[in-house]
Amino acid sequence: MAEIVVQNLRKEFGTFTAVKSSSFRIEDGEFFMLLGPSGCGKTTTLRMIAGLELPTSGEIFIDGEEVGRKPARERDIAFVFQMFALYPHMNVRRNIAYPLASQGLARAAIREKVAEVARILDIEAILDRPVGGLSGGDRQRVALARAIVRNPKCFLMDEPLGALDAEFRERMAEELRALHDRMGATTVYVTHDQLEAMQMGDKIVVMNHGVIEQIATPQDIYDKPATLFVASFIGSPPMNFVRFHGKVRPGDSRVDLQHHAVGVPSMREAFEGDMVFGVRPEHVRLTDDAPHRGRVIATEYLGTTQIVTIETAGGQIKARIASDRPARVDETIGLAFDPGTITLFDAQTGHALRSELNEGVLRHG
Ligand code: ATP
Repeated sequence: MAEIVVQNLRKEFGTFTAVKSSSFRIEDGEFFMLLGPSGCGKTTTLRMIAGLELPTSGEIFIDGEEVGRKPARERDIAFVFQMFALYPHMNVRRNIAYPLASQGLARAAIREKVAEVARILDIEAILDRPVGGLSGGDRQRVALARAIVRNPKCFLMDEPLGALDAEFRERMAEELRALHDRMGATTVYVTHDQLEAMQMGDKIVVMNHGVIEQIATPQDIYDKPATLFVASFIGSPPMNFVRFHGKVRPGDSRVDLQHHAVGVPSMREAFEGDMVFGVRPEHVRLTDDAPHRGRVIATEYLGTTQIVTIETAGGQIKARIASDRPARVDETIGLAFDPGTITLFDAQTGHALRSELNEGVLRHG
């Protein structure tokens, strides 16, 4: 069990800065996701926590102790990579026992611990099999067993499910989360897959170009994005954006969007200039009598819902509506937005403006 605190962490490779200045706190027992597109600095951050990479500056605390310069083997953590390397000449039991044997633990204690993790991961039946013939899933479980058998303070995982096909990946994600809930060990998990992050994480850090864009629970990341980047990276289809020029004052709950007043959450800050109006597709309603109008240009059937794309004066807007509501290509239709769900952004900085909706949630790195 461990609390991990990262303060002003920075990593430069020559003239390139991979991690600019990261600060976050991971609570004891938390499942913490580092999420972002390829190259945003997730793996570098994880490797610094692991002790596999030296920070250029900044500090890393594990349970209050500064470990930034301590070698990996002294940090009491287990690192699980995407490609699980098992020892091919050993059977499952010996693979799992290996970290304990190399610590010099007594045979009986090793047997007991191996049996215990095999039970947790449901691999008792394959303990005496060679690893060569195992399925991908079983190899994954054996590698996890080998990581947890040492009972480390925390687990660091770098895209551990990246190599699996979609169906199996989902099952392993569920298993990993269930395993975490049983063991309660702090876990830091790197992924570029927003669904994986939403499904498994207690908390998500969204990174972009070495900078933390937001730190929040999956639900807050989705409902209350701190930046345009987060709003477009999370959600499929992503949030709709309409750019406009306008003015808001604290307490305002309407804006003038393309000459029509639309409701927004009560604002908590004043702003004047170029803004972006953000609305998720499921919060767009199609109605005959709304003043905002547009032309349907495409419909995409998804079973219980459909995605309707509408061309409006402010650009294309996607609405997720029930499949049984008729929507015909070329029809002109009115659009209404659920006021309580709207986020306004400063178009220049990309930062969300503070409102009743997101107050207390916004965190910029
Ligand atoms: P990915 O999922 O693609 O690995 P990531 O978010 O994990 O993405 P990092 O691996 O942390 O990204 O890399 C961040 C940036 O730092 C990338 O542009 C990468 O090319 C660069 N980088 C990483 N390691 C080194 C290194 N040893 N030397 C030089 N540049 C590096």
